[in-house]
Amino acid sequence: MALIEFHDVHKWYGDFHVLKGITESVEQGEVLVICGPSGSGKSTLIRCVNRLEEYQKGHILIDGKDIHGDDIDVNELRSHIGIVFQQFNLYPHISVLKNITLAPIKVKKISKAEAEKTGMALLERVGIHEQAHKFPAELSGGQQQRVAIARALAMKPRIMLFDEPTSALDPEMINEVLNVMKDLAREGMTMLCVTHEMGFAREVADRVVFMDFGEILEQAPPLEFFSNPKHERTKLFLKEIL
Ligand code: ADP
Ligand code: MG
Repeated sequence: MALIEFHDVHKWYGDFHVLKGITESVEQGEVLVICGPSGSGKSTLIRCVNRLEEYQKGHILIDGKDIHGDDIDVNELRSHIGIVFQQFNLYPHISVLKNITLAPIKVKKISKAEAEKTGMALLERVGIHEQAHKFPAELSGGQQQRVAIARALAMKPRIMLFDEPTSALDPEMINEVLNVMKDLAREGMTMLCVTHEMGFAREVADRVVFMDFGEILEQAPPLEFFSNPKHERTKLFLKEIL
């Protein structure tokens, strides 16, 4: 059984049909890179997985369980699914370490001491433990995004969603974030990554998925996807971004 299954998922924003029947499955430990033109529905799709967006038709299953089932507690669901946004969305008024320990203490009822120990270990893992007691605004964009990743990991998620995590960064900071993501991928995290960083896709993606106008047009392992794109729209897209 796949870890995540999408069955004919449709979503409308008013009259606008943004997801037009997405069917896809993601195995435990798989890394999917989702790419496609702006407005094609990439963010909407991954936000459906942790129910930040509702959909009107179809089903998403995690571990075989419908995420809209009666027995699903949305907070519990979200505690297993980390999400990292383009804008880091850190809490500005508390320290970096507190950003990381807040949810484990509040949602998982972990002791402050334990949460701080884990938080420091995570900051070390993303290479910024010296910054633990600073406020987010005192950090560079790349550092803030690494805090956002550490914050998501503090909940020990089974799935990580990334929505263009490097798009708001200055070029010299992109690699420090991608390197953290590559480590995660190699450690076996199940990841859905919306990104146009095709070097990242080549290096760690198991599959590259191309979306256009609310549909998955094609998908393939990176080598095949880049060397032999099948659809004209995929070729055009690759020509524009590579
Ligand atoms: P992508 O991430 O691929 O750029 P999105 O999923 O953000 O695409 O958006 C897909 C389409 O849905 C876009 O045309 C966007 O304008 C529209 N859209 C996104 N969010 C909303 C919303 N809250 N209300 C109405 N339309 C939206
Ligand atoms: Mg988007």
